[in-house]
Amino acid sequence: MSTIAAISTAPGIGGIGIIRMSGEDTFKILNKIFKPKNPVNIDEVKGYTIKYGYIVNNNEVIDEVLVSFFRAPNSYTTENLCEISSHGGVYIVRKILEACLENGANLAEPGEFTKRAFLNGRMDLSQAEAVIDVINSVSDKEAKTSIKQLEGVLSRQIKEIRDLLMSVMVNIEVSIDYPEYDVEEVTNKEAYSTLEEAYVKLEKLLKSFDNGKIIRNGIKVAIIGKPNAGKSSLLNSILKEERAIVTDIEGTTRDTIEEAITVSGIPIHIIDTAGIRKANNEVEKIGIEKSRKMAEEADLIIAIFDVSRPFDKEDEEILSLLKGKKSIILLNKIDLETDNETKQKIQEKIGDIELIEISAKESIGIENIYDRISKMFELNEISLEGDAIITNVRHKEIISKALQSTKNAMDAMKGYLPIDIIGVYIKEIMEELGKITGESVSGEIIKEIFSKFCLGK
Ligand code: GDP
Repeated sequence: MSTIAAISTAPGIGGIGIIRMSGEDTFKILNKIFKPKNPVNIDEVKGYTIKYGYIVNNNEVIDEVLVSFFRAPNSYTTENLCEISSHGGVYIVRKILEACLENGANLAEPGEFTKRAFLNGRMDLSQAEAVIDVINSVSDKEAKTSIKQLEGVLSRQIKEIRDLLMSVMVNIEVSIDYPEYDVEEVTNKEAYSTLEEAYVKLEKLLKSFDNGKIIRNGIKVAIIGKPNAGKSSLLNSILKEERAIVTDIEGTTRDTIEEAITVSGIPIHIIDTAGIRKANNEVEKIGIEKSRKMAEEADLIIAIFDVSRPFDKEDEEILSLLKGKKSIILLNKIDLETDNETKQKIQEKIGDIELIEISAKESIGIENIYDRISKMFELNEISLEGDAIITNVRHKEIISKALQSTKNAMDAMKGYLPIDIIGVYIKEIMEELGKITGESVSGEIIKEIFSKFCLGK
């Protein structure tokens, strides 16, 4: 494979920049552009050592650098690899990259270092995919789940299932190859219970996707309420900073604002919608449509009511948006004189859902909202111990298919279909699962997966 180079740090101004080079000719190229302060023979520098010196190209000193050496097979890609740490900034790192390219390296494609790690057998596909998830993590639980996948938890579980299927396959093949030994009946019984075991494991993995989705995407929360109910104040109180504009004029929140907080390690995206009321003009109309749409899209609706004012048609409209949705109902402005009738009417309409009393302005009762969210979505129950959690839609689809094929195989057995037909189903399941670990995946899919990576990774 050719020798590749890329800038691995994010573009922009920063303390240091890192240029990475991997491939057979890494040290040959490095020899041409790196002048160590204490002369050494670069070919003899051991792996896991760092040398100090200068990058020089066309007789021009580009920068003072540290070079980390990694010798095959003990590197990220399993190839000879070096990382040149230079001063940060856009210009210097580009000049160093150019020096590598002028002296024989090719510009790496996005994700090419990780792709090589996969192709060279250092990690399987699900681990390589975890690399991008680790990089893109925005919350504690997301990062931890990705790290576990990177360590190979998912791969191990897939392997366990494949081993089960393999044992069934072996039995089946024996009975096909040696029909005179009439082993079919025993095989059938054993094979069925092994398949059942695989089915349970697959089902558990599939179910973990619900938690995986929360870990990965967080929970989308829409705050709705009539104008002046206190939506912006609530958001401010939650964010404890004045990012949403609080105003006394109705309906100024024409567009929406989205912010993220973390509750029990899970990202919560809060959308502040426009006041919901009868539209007077086009702009407002768009705002209202958006509110309805957001309420529909949200995983959770926080409906806020002003208990210092009488309950009216607008409040009723808000309540009607909650049908069939997970929702939290807030009675706001408890620091003012409250209208008991408002409280009563809301409680009547919503049945036995517990209301939460708050003052958005005075930041009273806000903690109770977090507690309720945490309980509703069982956030504290999402345990990262033990089994793998699926967060990747590609994996979910594969496991769904494998589960269906397992069901087909089990049904075929129950229906006493010929054993070789069952063998076909089992091969199908193995083939599907191999798409997670990468054994049976097309070059096209591999290309697509790695194209989502950033440059230099
Ligand atoms: P929105 O239209 O629903 O976003 O409402 P705002 O957050 O802009 O609030 C409307 C008005 O009510 C502002 O003058 C706020 O200061 C006031 N307000 C909001 N929450 C409270 C509260 O808990 N107590 C009191 N006294 N006033 C509040």
